[in-house]
Amino acid sequence: MKVHIIGGGIIGWSTAWYLNQAGYEVSIIEKEANFGGCSHGNSGIIVPSHFIPLAAPGVISKGIKWMFDAKSPFYIKPRLNLELMQWLWQFYRSCSAKKVQEAMPVLLEFNQLSKSLYEALSQEPGFDFELEKKGLMMLFKTKKAKEEEESIVAAAAQLGLDAQMLTEAEVRQHHPGLEVDVLGGSFFPSDAHVNPNRVMKQIRALGQEKGITCLSNTTVTGFKTEKGQVSALTTADGQLIPTEQVVLAAGGWTARLARQLGIRLLLQGGKGYSITVPRQDKKPAMPVIFTEAKVALTPLKDQLRIAGTMEIGGLKHEIHLKRMEGILESVPRYFPEIQYDMPAKEQIWHGFRPCTPDGLPFIGKHPKYQNLILATGHAMMGMSTGPATGLLVSEMMQEKKTSMGVEMFSPLR
Ligand SMILES: Cc1cc2nc3c(=O)[nH]c(=O)nc-3n(C[C@H](O)[C@H](O)[C@H](O)COP(=O)(O)OP(=O)(O)OC[C@H]3O[C@@H](n4cnc5c(N)ncnc54)[C@H](O)[C@@H]3O)c2cc1C
Repeated sequence: MKVHIIGGGIIGWSTAWYLNQAGYEVSIIEKEANFGGCSHGNSGIIVPSHFIPLAAPGVISKGIKWMFDAKSPFYIKPRLNLELMQWLWQFYRSCSAKKVQEAMPVLLEFNQLSKSLYEALSQEPGFDFELEKKGLMMLFKTKKAKEEEESIVAAAAQLGLDAQMLTEAEVRQHHPGLEVDVLGGSFFPSDAHVNPNRVMKQIRALGQEKGITCLSNTTVTGFKTEKGQVSALTTADGQLIPTEQVVLAAGGWTARLARQLGIRLLLQGGKGYSITVPRQDKKPAMPVIFTEAKVALTPLKDQLRIAGTMEIGGLKHEIHLKRMEGILESVPRYFPEIQYDMPAKEQIWHGFRPCTPDGLPFIGKHPKYQNLILATGHAMMGMSTGPATGLLVSEMMQEKKTSMGVEMFSPLR
């Protein structure tokens, strides 16, 4: 059976990978010539530790404070837009302890399933995406952030995930030869990291060797529908592509496409930035996230990636230099010996995290069309949970029992 996947990011390619394994004839359609989406310059951290959704108690008050600081890690551009208003309302409603408690075990299971799939993929001939299992360290400078980390570590313990609080001295022991200026840290030994650019390059190359076809530089603009089925895709260059099964995995752009099908998805693009510098002597021994600054440093094999910021301001490609300045200025506050000058604008990567208001992805069929599956909304965890999403979509298409419960990911929730 012929499947078309719209979007060539980690979600689209992982889905293509598992559908190809299940025997489907798979084509990816991608609007960019050089695969520009969010799945390339991200931090590459595989995060069982991120079992708390973005929408959680306390986030709104922090967010309001950050709104007035041009260098802060979080910004919502105020605008009169009905979808944004609805998204914010749902976000507000999702910031409840009950919703977070329900989501936590599901997100942990999702992340752990995906990590095990990355481990399996890394064993396949042709894959070498620098999977390293060194854990993730969250660093904090304030008592308030310490208390927050303590509650996350306690929640992790309840869920059976290994997590430890570290004193300043213990943090130093983990990063020999590096000056560290923190109050302490928390450590999640079962997190891992990959080089996202390598994951994407290799899954494309190996996928195509296995028979997945790919139409890049082709933008899907609409659909033809018949009797509750999507029967064809239309493209910006005038093609009409007949189809039997469709997966919508267009990241931050998915809501726009879904609208063409009369489906309303509350989704906002959360823009983030990164720079990648040649790796130097002074570097953390494993990925770290500064909890107050919300900045991540990932030591890749020959490079160091520094990433951060979440700007909810529409899918606009402009780079706000002040935010990148904020990211870079935070680094020496935690690691006084690591300092970088502002790079030229062209060296700053940006991507749009597809963010749902409740912090859970949309993965599932939609009752309006029998041959449509939605797979998006992975926000800060899409690189981690791409393989699990791909496997779940393939199981849904085959109408098999899924590897984990997916009710909470329903696009109809
Ligand atoms: C700064 C930053 C750091 C991050 N760090 C991490 C991390 O450490 N760990 C983690 O797990 N996640 C991380 N993420 C999140 C992760 O990058 C995203 O969740 C993930 O890449 C989303 O993948 P996707 O396939 O849904 O979207 P994308 O990668 O954006 O792919 C969607 C694709 O669809 C294409 N498309 C859109 N519309 C159309 C159309 N009409 N026709 C054809 N093609 C179309 C786009 O061009 C794009 O290539 C980070 C994100 C950012 C911004």
